[in-house]
Order: sequence, then C-alpha cells, then structure tokens
Amino acid sequence: MLRFDILSIFPEMFQSPFDASLIKKALEKGLIEIHLHDIRDYALDKHHVTDDTPYGGGGGMVMKVEPVERALASIIGEKAEAMVILMTPQGEVFNQGVAESLSSCDHIVIVCGHYEGLDERIRQYLIDREISIGDYVLTGGEFAAMVLVDAVSRLVPGVLGNSNSAVFDSFSTGLLEYPQYTRPAEYRGWKVPEVLLSGNHRQIDAWRKKASLKRTRSRRPDLLTKRHLTDDEKKILEELEME
Ligand code: SAM
Repeated sequence: MLRFDILSIFPEMFQSPFDASLIKKALEKGLIEIHLHDIRDYALDKHHVTDDTPYGGGGGMVMKVEPVERALASIIGEKAEAMVILMTPQGEVFNQGVAESLSSCDHIVIVCGHYEGLDERIRQYLIDREISIGDYVLTGGEFAAMVLVDAVSRLVPGVLGNSNSAVFDSFSTGLLEYPQYTRPAEYRGWKVPEVLLSGNHRQIDAWRKKASLKRTRSRRPDLLTKRHLTDDEKKILEELEME
C-alpha cells in the first residue's frame, strides 16, 4: 500500500480528480491512500495566514515556513521513511523513470506551492526531492501533484486491471508504444492493419516492435540515442532507413 499526504492551501482542488476512474478504484481497494491537508490549518495566527510579502521587495506573496513545517511535523513526526517532495518548476523533470522509482515508496508527502512560491528555507530544510512536471509555470503545485499521484499510482501492483498493460507503455521500454486498434476492423474505409487480425502472435509481435521503433524514430529520436539497442532493433532501424 502506498500512502500519499498532500499539503496545499486549496485541498478541495483534488476531490473530483481523485474521485473517478482507476484512482478511485485503487483507493476503494486499499492499494493507495490519499490524505489531503489544508496548510491553513497549521497557521499560527487566528486568521490562518500562510503567505507574506517577500523580503527585499518585489511583487507577489511568498508561502511562509511555519505552517508548512508544522504540517509536516504533524504528518510525519519523526518517521524518516517518508519521502517529502516539493512540486516546483525548478526541480528535476518528472518522467516515467522517476514515477517508477517513486512507486516503490511506502509513504510520499507532497508539498504544493502557490503565489510566487515558498520560503526557500522549506526547500533547504524540509524537502527530500524537488520535482517539476515540465518547463512551464503553473499557478500552483496542485495540478502537478495530481499528475505525479496519477502516474505513480498506476504503477502500484494491482492498480491497473491488466498487470501487463504498463509494461509496453510509452517510455517504460524506452520507446513509444506501437499504435493500438480495436473493433470494428474497418470503419468508413479506415482499415486495421491485416496482421493484427491474423491471430499469428509471432508476426504481431514483430509488427509491433517495428511500429514502436518507427514511431519513436520519427517522433522522439532522442529516446533511441539513450537506449541500448539490441541487434534485432538495429536491424529493424536499418530497414526503416531504407524504406
Ligand atoms: N516564482 C516561481 C519560480 O519562478 O520558480 C514559480 C512559482 S509558481 C507561480 C507557484 C507554485 O506552482 C510553485 O511553488 C510550485 O509549487 C507550482 N508549480 C508551478 N509550475 C510547476 C511545475 N512546472 N512543476 C511543478 N510545480 C509547479
């Protein structure tokens, strides 16, 4: 079971996304737990203020250190095994490899920033890992946290109906996935490749391998340079070069 604790000043943003589809089922089956925490509940003053103007001037507000520190202390206490993640555009860029590494954790605590971001001391003293979901700036860390929870949760054993379905997913193999088709075999004259209807699994596997390499070569050639190619894959790529 993987437990997530999410700290945010807008915890209500998570209700609907986590109340549908596979995440809802994973919660119902007890494969994951998600606990939402309002950082405002940990503010020290009676108005529950969680942000203040930046030292040194400049626009915008900065999230204060005390409420976040108090929230973390109450959630994880002395437990060293929790992985505390800050969602930030300045962090390592999230990808399938990072999702796989996080899926073996027992407890992930996610801190979502807002406004101009958080007091730097939060990053310095309270965080284990900083993660960005891409080179763009969001209004807050909530959507980024949803992306992380979704991508990590589907890798927890039992969450996907068919345990094989993550194996050939794009990026899991270092390649983009081959194209998928379902019934009908023909629609408006648009046909499914004949080989997929043949029932010949050796030929289907060969077609899929080639299609996956072809797609990766045309859309994400950078993935091929990072991958250790087998002799078979090198041969297929040479064939594609000739076509
Ligand atoms: N001023 C900050 C900077 O330039 O790095 C950006 C602050 S952003 C408006 C507010 C919050 O949104 C951040 O503290 C972070 O939690 C979240 N955020 C924004 N973009 C993100 C991204 N690409 N990945 C993860 N979190 C992001």
